[in-house]
Amino acid sequence: MPAFRMKKIVLDAGHGGSDPGNIGSKVREKDINLAVTLLVGKYLKENMPDVEVIYTRDDDSFPTLKQRPNIANINKADLFVSIHSNSAPNKSAFGTETFVMGTKHFEANFDIVKRENSVILLEENYAEEYEGFDPTSPESYMLFNLTQKAYIGNSITLADHIETQFRDRVGRKSRGVKQGPFYVLWTPSMPSVLVELGFLSNIEEEKFLMSQAGKEYMASAIYRSIKAYKEQIEGN
Ligand SMILES: [Zn+2]
Repeated sequence: MPAFRMKKIVLDAGHGGSDPGNIGSKVREKDINLAVTLLVGKYLKENMPDVEVIYTRDDDSFPTLKQRPNIANINKADLFVSIHSNSAPNKSAFGTETFVMGTKHFEANFDIVKRENSVILLEENYAEEYEGFDPTSPESYMLFNLTQKAYIGNSITLADHIETQFRDRVGRKSRGVKQGPFYVLWTPSMPSVLVELGFLSNIEEEKFLMSQAGKEYMASAIYRSIKAYKEQIEGN
């Protein structure tokens, strides 16, 4: 058996096009997600030329929630990283969190899961496409089986690196590694995480994520986490 080598990464900038995602006082989530995602890709290409980077979108387009993991599966990627920004009714909420697929503490995270998955309601034919899956109904999540179970260990390893980097190297408040039944994390056949960079509903955090330095810090933290993860699973 040849040693495992991580060769392909799919980077998924959340939302796009007609779907702005969360809206801050000055910025839309889709724009922050895209800018940070493109920077992560740039750092990967510059520093890890043996790894191929594939974007689900590299402009203001809107791949569906079904297409995003499909791109990763079709390309037989080794890793899927979806990048988002958060929002909460409580304007003082702030900090980063990284999700892996799962239903632990489902109730506590249902708001954010519902918000991210409700994007499919903007798609035409969503009822047909998603076979009756209703993102706003807790019962619908019974459909989410354990297809990601084989990858949960590696997904958590990467998520831990990301949250540690955010906290220790960028000085952000880490809200930790969590589980959530996000649609984009359901079908990828590889380790997968969904990163929430911070809360656009928090004035200070929005300002940080809007700044060029903030975006670069967050993107390099994700880049370094992917590098550490690669070295760890390749056993270097
Ligand atoms: Zn989002």
